[in-house]
Amino acid sequence: MRYGLVGASGRMGQEIQKAFAEHTLCLTVDINGETCDDTPQVIVDFSNRMALPRTIELCRLHRAGLVVGTTAIVQEDIELLRKLGEEVPVVQSFNFSVGVNILKMVLRQFAPYLEDWDLEICETHHNKKKDAPSGTAILMREVTGRNCPTHSLRMGGVPGDHSAFFANEGEVLEFTHRALSRSVFALGAYRAAQFVVNAEPGFYSFEEVIACAPRKSSSL
Ligand code: NAD
Repeated sequence: MRYGLVGASGRMGQEIQKAFAEHTLCLTVDINGETCDDTPQVIVDFSNRMALPRTIELCRLHRAGLVVGTTAIVQEDIELLRKLGEEVPVVQSFNFSVGVNILKMVLRQFAPYLEDWDLEICETHHNKKKDAPSGTAILMREVTGRNCPTHSLRMGGVPGDHSAFFANEGEVLEFTHRALSRSVFALGAYRAAQFVVNAEPGFYSFEEVIACAPRKSSSL
């Protein structure tokens, strides 16, 4: 696979290069400039929303699909990505870990049974993360259909912890996901890129990527 990388020198950019090590990086974009020596089949963007217009332009120029994990993008950006999805496949997610996407499915299914319980969401990330609450915490709130209190901690090197706490007078039910390393997001982006190179144009979530190609557990 020939791929382009927006945010190539960033923390996630470095992880993505490790996860895509067997493939050819032929286009890079960073705050300081661009390099291009071939036509990418897919562009991966983990950078900053300011880079998004150029990313979209590059996808059109090269007819490349897109995997975009940049957070703090707004509805207007999502509309631009949906429009791009009419021409090439686009996978957008605020969280490319398999576990968080399963957690979202669980919350979507079971939160309606807990409507009369209190609900609060907590997330912890490393102290360099710029946005708060995290895009994932916002999605967790959305799938429960409740505008519940959301708490953000920014400390140390934590790659990303998310919890939903439900409680009534007698019980507490806790759903927690912990990313142990940034590499999980890069591996998810890799899985999405493999999907993109074979997919029809469209605007896809990472949940759809997981549902479309379930992995067999190694214990089966
Ligand atoms: P970082 O600060 O280490 O790197 C940012 C990169 O973006 C750098 O390479 C920088 O040069 C580039 N950049 C910034 N502004 C730019 C611009 N205007 N034009 C071109 N390039 C620009 O950040 P990071 O920790 O690598 O995170 C990058 C993004 O990925 C953030 O939005 C973060 O929240 C997100 N992220 C998403 C997931 C996910 O699963 N969706 C997981 C982790 C991080």
